[in-house]
Amino acid sequence: MTVPTQAHESLPPGVEATLTRAARAGQALPLVVTPATRTWTIEDSEELYRIQGWGEPYFSINEAGRVTVSPQGDRGGSLDLYELVNALKQRNLGLPLLIRFSDILEDRIERLNAAFAKAIARYNYPGAYRGVFPVKCNQQRHLVESLVKFGKRHQFGLEAGSKPELMIALATLDTPGALLICNGYKDREYIETAILAQRLGQTPIIVLEQLEEVQLLIEASRKLGIQPVVGVRAKLTAKGEGRWGISAGDRAKFGLTVPEIIQGVELLRQAQMLESLQLLHFHIGSQISSISVIKDALREASQMYVELAHLGANMKYLDVGGGLGVDYDGSKTNFYASKNYNMQNYANDVVAEVKEACAERNLPVPTLISESGRAIASHQSVLVFDVLGVSTVPTIEPEPLPAGEHLIIRNLYETYQSITTDNYQEAYHDAAQFKEEAISLFNFGYVSLTGRAHAERLYWACCRKILAIARQQEYVPDDLEDLEQIMASIYYINLSVFQSAPDSWAIDQLFPIMPIHRLDEEPTERATLADLTCDSDGKINQFIDLRDVKSVLELHPLKAKSENENQLIPTQFEPYYLGMFLGGAYQEIMGNLHNLFGDTNAVHIHLTPKGYQIQHVVKGDTMREVLGYVQYDAEDLVESIRQQTEQALLEKRITLQESQLLLQNYERSLSGYTYLSAF
Ligand SMILES: *Cc1c(COP(=O)(O)O)cnc(C)c1O
Repeated sequence: MTVPTQAHESLPPGVEATLTRAARAGQALPLVVTPATRTWTIEDSEELYRIQGWGEPYFSINEAGRVTVSPQGDRGGSLDLYELVNALKQRNLGLPLLIRFSDILEDRIERLNAAFAKAIARYNYPGAYRGVFPVKCNQQRHLVESLVKFGKRHQFGLEAGSKPELMIALATLDTPGALLICNGYKDREYIETAILAQRLGQTPIIVLEQLEEVQLLIEASRKLGIQPVVGVRAKLTAKGEGRWGISAGDRAKFGLTVPEIIQGVELLRQAQMLESLQLLHFHIGSQISSISVIKDALREASQMYVELAHLGANMKYLDVGGGLGVDYDGSKTNFYASKNYNMQNYANDVVAEVKEACAERNLPVPTLISESGRAIASHQSVLVFDVLGVSTVPTIEPEPLPAGEHLIIRNLYETYQSITTDNYQEAYHDAAQFKEEAISLFNFGYVSLTGRAHAERLYWACCRKILAIARQQEYVPDDLEDLEQIMASIYYINLSVFQSAPDSWAIDQLFPIMPIHRLDEEPTERATLADLTCDSDGKINQFIDLRDVKSVLELHPLKAKSENENQLIPTQFEPYYLGMFLGGAYQEIMGNLHNLFGDTNAVHIHLTPKGYQIQHVVKGDTMREVLGYVQYDAEDLVESIRQQTEQALLEKRITLQESQLLLQNYERSLSGYTYLSAF
């Protein structure tokens, strides 16, 4: 590749500029400089996007520079995600597309159970583990049904946190002996239904979260003549930190304080139902990043457990709730997007703490229950979406100024020409100041519109040159830190953050995001992502990093389609796909219809010895459907348009042909996807 000499001048010796396509046409300055001897490899992409940190063993990069999915972890085959997406597109499944890998779900259940089995063996724990899946984490029918199926061999159960979730759990759970944990606020109907489920052969455990529920439970049990199995949810003092920490602690929304627990025990004793009280439950919050917080909670809860036994309750189960974290940034730290322990450490601590507390008091150990949702459901789905277009800061190389240009603009040009490694920091301030001055002069009529255009173009050219130098430095001065963000491109993505990544918008949660192809090419652009909604919050500008977070994501320049390569501003690009990973928990149900972007298409993929099988296709919302949610009837809407066209025809404002085209488009849109079909 030949590098325009002008661009070469400011580069340190021995480096060659890697230019974007536009740059090759002689338009832009190089932003990324790499030593001439070095080409980008997939290992560079692995390191950059940290895929091993957060993706192992399910996601990696293949020789072709594409993300591969190994849904059975290290035990089975793998498939090329880019090829899969293209194959699905050919089946009329447009992007954005949520791909669920049921084998990953199965692997997560296996891993969790294996971790507890190992811990139980290691500590000679004379009891069992019976996990449950909290339905609130992902209530999608196909997912819950697969989960129950995969969990059978471990007697894996379900946890319901509300009445509708209880309906799901009751009808879906058909594993003999698997537990059905009944949490959440309860009314008489909830409690009666849960008690009656015993008659169906289910094993429901009603967890009391409010003192009022004790009375309701006693009455319902008397009325039905059935002795229920009952638990209490304790408000622990130990609490999680970070985003979700407030769900525990003395003032938490849920659970009974110690005085309330004592009161509950007395009420049950008076009703001769203390036999029924068999479980202690706690949940200190989700995504607990630090193992020490988990240990504290376990210690406190274990003591409560033995004390309850001491008070005469018939204790048999200890339910440690959720909280088992997911390493979203792959840093293995106690940063909120990570966790400083693994599943095995977690299981070991649960088993060891409980065993020790019981041994001290000479009590039989409980059956251990965990309600891990995030750790089970996060990995199984990948959201793939495309980039619709890019907005970049101007990249046109400044031409020599016309004679007689204003002094300020000439100063800017000089600044631009004289930027070096020695003065780039000072040059940055000069450039900013000259640009400000040029704009003031424009406002007072001393600089023409073309003059101002020169000034702005020169300013951006300075910034590009300075940034290219700054990126080569070991240390970036504080006053240049914003430069990366100022110069970032905006990639417009075919997605609604509100629908598909609500936690990214609502609580700044980080999800790994990366291109799923072209990973053998250097991603020379730095970008933030802007979604389809016309809401300024509909963006993603925080990305995972080894330390803290980064404000821009490295992406590849879009390639213009060959037929319009020579257009000054290309309007059509080769498809560029990004993936958002680890979003299988909570995002789907919390997504909302902002701007009326509906549910995305979803598919369930199962790996077979010969390839893969599409198990289920769940088509995303059509416009007709989302309009129905806000009480618009599609037929009425069409009728309104039809009448308007008739009127316009009468008044000769529209031709018959135009009116038919309009109606056709309108009707076709109604039964179409709410997202854009690019390309
Ligand atoms: C939300 C919730 C869970 C799931 O927590 P994760 O951190 O996703 O594992 C478990 N138990 C209860 C009571 C919950 O409210």
